[in-house]
Parts: sequence; structure tokens; C-alpha cells
Amino acid sequence: MMPMPLIFAATCDLAGKVRGKAFPSDQLEKRLIRGVGWTPTNVQITCFDTIAESPFGALGDLLLIPDAAAEARVSFDEGVQQHFILGDITDLDGAPWDFCTRSLLKSALQRLERVAGVRLIAAFEHEFQLKGAASVPNQAYGREGFEVQRQLCEKLMAALAEVGLSPDSIMKEYGPAQYEVVIGPEVGVRAADAAVIVRELTRSAARSLGEEATFTPIRDVASVGNGVHVHMSFEDADGQPMTYDPAGPCGMSELTSAFAAGVLKYLDRIIALTAPSVISYERLTPHRWSAAYNNLGFRDREASLRVCPVTAKDPASIARQFNIEYRAADAAACPHLALAAIVHAGVQGVEEGLSAPEPTEEDLSLLSPAVLAERGFVRLPETLSAALDILCGDKTVARWFPKAFLPVYRAHKQAEIDYLSEDNIAAKCAAYEQTY
Ligand code: GLU
Ligand code: MG
Repeated sequence: MMPMPLIFAATCDLAGKVRGKAFPSDQLEKRLIRGVGWTPTNVQITCFDTIAESPFGALGDLLLIPDAAAEARVSFDEGVQQHFILGDITDLDGAPWDFCTRSLLKSALQRLERVAGVRLIAAFEHEFQLKGAASVPNQAYGREGFEVQRQLCEKLMAALAEVGLSPDSIMKEYGPAQYEVVIGPEVGVRAADAAVIVRELTRSAARSLGEEATFTPIRDVASVGNGVHVHMSFEDADGQPMTYDPAGPCGMSELTSAFAAGVLKYLDRIIALTAPSVISYERLTPHRWSAAYNNLGFRDREASLRVCPVTAKDPASIARQFNIEYRAADAAACPHLALAAIVHAGVQGVEEGLSAPEPTEEDLSLLSPAVLAERGFVRLPETLSAALDILCGDKTVARWFPKAFLPVYRAHKQAEIDYLSEDNIAAKCAAYEQTY
């Protein structure tokens, strides 16, 4: 008997988990139109497989419709193929469902086009760690640290190329058994699709070698975290770069400056969507090169939003390469949802006509709350609960999402908080390392 090739139709949900259903591959044509059946209450399955309070109960039916543009098909070993296609969740009449993360991102990107006349180009940079892997000590950025995982790195980069992404670089990061994989930019929703694909193929590549990868925000609070850094730039309808202006602040165009200002203004209100786990807030502390304040950095890795350096020399290539990097995200977040929140915050800045603040170069953790406030900085929320309070209490942010979205998201995250409430920090980290 020959095994039947199956395709997994998938969504990356509020928990940042990739869930779905598989169907025989010869049904693809039909499934691209009719999808597979999906259940509303699935949206309340937390990352620990508990089910949060759901407004849907046992009722309702949805469709998860795979999108041929978000297909990942790769063979790691002879005969074993990984094949999944990300899709949109709709109601039975085909209208986007309020909790479909991919549709929420599409609507944010449409707002960006409507308000600013540009498309977003983005690239997600991911850090991860290998659980239980023999790790060579003292190998931050090391050649030997890379050597012991060369096979995994080569397999992963080949897989990324095979599914049509652009592998950029891969390295041994600073932390124990920590690696970082970088891919090239993609336009619009494909950038978030690509981020999901990177995570899943990293896990698959590691598993095929008998290893286990984790993207958990932080494994050990005494060590560094695993960040997700989102690089963003803009192009107009003709594909002309719109991010750079040599005369603008730190090289930012007027659009970039307003977008950056919006992201920084609303950062404390969106962080529960981009750093959405209980332990995300252990990573978002000063001196970890993550993000603790709503500050702009000119090449400074202690900033939540960083203006990145460009290596190009000629003006046309500089304009194309120039990008800003959002550093307050992690892989507990669904990339689509995180990006939707960032884009809405940025567009809000454009609508409000804001300009980017001065970049910081000092240690903001040394400043008193009064001085911080005077200079327009806030310490970002220090717990998930605090982040959720700020998110759900904000009238502007509420307008960016369907009416039912934030209360359901809050209930979802509350169940995750409750699940861990008796655990100490080490146990919390251990729980997350098993789920992400
Ligand atoms: N590991 C750091 C983080 O949690 C980032 C280090 C870097 O700049 O690459 O975001
Ligand atoms: Mg890094």
C-alpha cells in the first residue's frame, strides 16, 4: 500500500499556533475554493490546549480556505514530504471571519494603502534555541557553535529556498544553543506567511535530525531571550521605494517618520499582540537588546524601533534597502496579528500627522519615571495582564479591529494566564518552551 499524499490546510491563530486539517492532495483544486470545515470555538484553544471562555460554545461553522500563494511543500528526507498551505477563515458565505488573523492583516494593509498609498515590505528575523542539543560552551556567534548545527542550518536554508523564500543568513546567536535565521523581504501578507513557514520548517528540519527547536520568548530569565525582529519598508504602486529621504530624520521619509511615530505612540497598547505570552515580559526588560521603552534607536539594539544601517552605496539601492525594525515581538505571537497591530499603529501615526521623536543613545533605565514622562517615553507594560488592560482600554485601538475581537482575545489570554497562575517563573518558562 502506498501512503496517500496529504496537504495540511492551516491557520496561524490567536495563540500563534499553526492548526488545521489535512485532505488528500488530489482534492486541491476543490479545496482551494471550498476549503475545509472549521469551528469557531477553536479560536479559544490556548497554547496549552485549554479552552478559554468562548462566545461561540458548540455552535457555528466556518471554512478554512487554503491560499495557493501560501503553500509550503518540502521533502526533508526521501519519501517524507511536509506539505501545508496557509489560508483564510471565512463564514459559510465566504465573508472574512472576525478572528481570522490573516484577514485582519489584509485589512490593516488595505488601510495602509488607502491612507498612505503604499504597500508594506517586511522581513521577519527569528531567534530560536535547540532543546537538549549538545551545545558547545562559549560560542556566541561562534564558528564551532555553527559547526555543530551545520547540518540543520543547511537543511533549513535549503527548505526555505525550496518553498520559494529567500534564505539570507543563519548563525549561532549569543545564547546557549541559540541560532538566528534571516530571510529576505516579502510584500504584504506574504511576509507574515513567510514567518509562519520559517518557524514550522525550522521545527520540522530539527525534528528530522532528532532535535527539537523552540522559539519560546525566553527559556531562562538569567539568560537572553528569543526575539522576533520585523524589518519594514514601503513601496508605492509602481514599486518605487518610499521609506528613505536623505534629508529626513535618520534618513526617514516623511511617511516613515510618521509611521514610526505612530508605532512608538501606540506601542504600549499593541504589545499584548506582539509579545503575547506571560513570559514575553521577562524578555522585554532593559539590557537584553530587546525592548523596554517606546524609544527610537538609530542603529541602537536597545530600542524597540530601530533605524537599520544600509550597506548599499548608490542612492537607488540605499533607498530600496533602508528599513525600520520593530524589536518588541516574539514568536508566541501570530505573525499576521503582530504585523496587523504594528501596521495599524503606524498608519494611525500617518493619519495623526505625527513625526518621529529623536533617537535615544543612553540607558533609559537610569532615568526616573518623571524624566521619562517629560521626554515622552513610557516603560512598556511589565506583565501580560497590564499589557492586556492597556490594549483593551484604548478606544483608538478598538477601532482597528472588528468589535468582537478584543474581548475574545482578552478572554483567550486570560485563560493562558490562569493556566500558569500557580507556577513559579522557571515552571512558566518550561511550559512555554514546550509549546513554542
Ligand atoms: N536576543 C535579543 C532579543 O531578545 C536580540 C539580540 C539581537 O539584537 O539580535 O530580541
Ligand atoms: Mg539576533
